[in-house]
Amino acid sequence: MTSSSPETVAMNGFVAVIKRTRRKGSVGFRLSSGQVVVLAPKASSKAELRLLLESKSAWILAKLTLQDQAKFQAERHYVCGEQLAFLDRKLVLQVCQGAFSTGLRGPSELVVSVPEAKLGWVRNALVRWYKLQAQVHIEQRVSYFSPLVGAWPKSIEIKTYRARWGSCNDRGQIQFNWKLMMAPSAVVDSVVVHELCHLLHMHHGPEFWLQVQRVLPNYQDAKQWLKDEGHGLGLD
Ligand SMILES: [Zn+2]
Repeated sequence: MTSSSPETVAMNGFVAVIKRTRRKGSVGFRLSSGQVVVLAPKASSKAELRLLLESKSAWILAKLTLQDQAKFQAERHYVCGEQLAFLDRKLVLQVCQGAFSTGLRGPSELVVSVPEAKLGWVRNALVRWYKLQAQVHIEQRVSYFSPLVGAWPKSIEIKTYRARWGSCNDRGQIQFNWKLMMAPSAVVDSVVVHELCHLLHMHHGPEFWLQVQRVLPNYQDAKQWLKDEGHGLGLD
């Protein structure tokens, strides 16, 4: 290597970075975060690579566009039309200008009214709304499951946690993460039962799991769902 600046080829619509490899013969392409990396054998000339890139450019541009779209969809923008998960439903966000208020309109519209359409205001209004829904919904589910588990909590609190769904202490208080309201209702139930069972067994031993399984035979499905999808819950 004589120079540390990368070799590049400017094409129509994208720039490709060339990485020289030990590979013989074929040229490889890697597309990620809007960048095209060409894995090329040491011997191949820049003119050769340009020709190859030209022949592939329609494919490359299409791939880059798809990646951009996927990235945009994964981000939250807090604008009208955006979808928000709410238990077993999908709500469509509507943002309008006015005094602060948040509420459902019809079965699937969630209307957030803010004096100015500032992203942070809309987000905070949504978090407050989800927390209120969580308090009501989870209290109902606790009332339903308590007699089945045979344990009643002293209090139920809704919290914001980064990496946990619920917790229980030895004073009989249980806490839940509001972000659960963006998961299917069966998943919320599984966390409710989990914490209620901790009122009987403050550990994750065999008796604890037996109790959970007795009340919710399909507990494992919900647990797996949280493992796979839990990172996407919340409004961060
Ligand atoms: Zn636990």
